[in-house]
Amino acid sequence: MPDPYEVYAIRYAERVGARNQHLLHQDPHDGPMAMDYFVWAIVGNGRTFVVDLGFEAIEAKKRGRTLLRSPAEGLKLLGIDAATVEDVIISHLHYDHAGSVGDFPNAKFYLQDREMSFATGRNMRHETFNIAYSVEYVIDILRKVYDNRVIFIDGMEVLAPGLSVHHVGGHTDGLQIVRVWTKRGWVVLAADAAHYYENMETPNPFPLVYNVGDMIDGYRTMALLAESPQHIVPGHDPLVTKRYPALSPETEGIIVRLDAAPSA
Ligand SMILES: [Zn+2]
Repeated sequence: MPDPYEVYAIRYAERVGARNQHLLHQDPHDGPMAMDYFVWAIVGNGRTFVVDLGFEAIEAKKRGRTLLRSPAEGLKLLGIDAATVEDVIISHLHYDHAGSVGDFPNAKFYLQDREMSFATGRNMRHETFNIAYSVEYVIDILRKVYDNRVIFIDGMEVLAPGLSVHHVGGHTDGLQIVRVWTKRGWVVLAADAAHYYENMETPNPFPLVYNVGDMIDGYRTMALLAESPQHIVPGHDPLVTKRYPALSPETEGIIVRLDAAPSA
């Protein structure tokens, strides 16, 4: 096996929502349910991979989200300079995962074929699907295609020893998850394959969904790829910063270590 990677979740934004915005099968006891927004960093074996690109101030204002820091500012707290990052994995092109391409001038972007097709194809005529995309961010990525900066992936690919991406679809047609080798075993970064622990554990899928069957199959795919259920990290759950240890007292609630065991 390769040396284990360090894996970090960096919280960059938040919003207050309601349970029934986050569950396909509605809860008769609706109530507040916060959503956190993350990017992730994978460091080891001489490489730094950033997973996802967050959003920036204009989009935050438009959508009433609270931007706490740009993803680049969050990475800086980890000692990572976004301008020098060479590898960025994009789970999918939704606005909150694809929005700060300009802060990564030296990066290659790993993206599923099907996500680029989906984000530029027939379904984007409909608000049902285009509501979670920013056309400006999609165009930013399209420019990177023309600059030969996008590495297209069809399904599964090993990007480095101990680090692979896997198409699961569901939430969008081209969503991919990340599997990474750590000192506690194989960790899976779900991104939006599971927004909350509750989505995959109940299971009760997230209602913003392209294909419900693929989404539910994705829960099984993640279970097969992860060392245990405690090794799957949902993409938007405030429990993530509660369960995992902070990088340091200064980064409490901002950066947690996913290569360390979570509390129960
Ligand atoms: Zn999404």
